[in-house]
Amino acid sequence: MCSCNRSVEAAQVGQAVEECAELIVALQKYVNRTTIHDTVEAILDEIADVEMMLAQMRLTVGISDEMLQKRICQKFAKLENDLKK
Ligand SMILES: [Mg+2]
Repeated sequence: MCSCNRSVEAAQVGQAVEECAELIVALQKYVNRTTIHDTVEAILDEIADVEMMLAQMRLTVGISDEMLQKRICQKFAKLENDLKK
């Protein structure tokens, strides 16, 4: 991979981190809310941003739908198993 691809990748990862941070802030404001409408709209915006960045990150890193679904199923199975203990 050439260094220009690495810098594009680093910029994409940086943007993904920033969008995740913005969602965290919106969720924290929801917990401490004074007006529900504004916080729900902010969360909606930030979830949309994060979903878009996750789709981009999956393409960048090379994670297919199948790989993701398999991992989610594995995690659900583990959670289900842990809850039975
Ligand atoms: Mg955002």
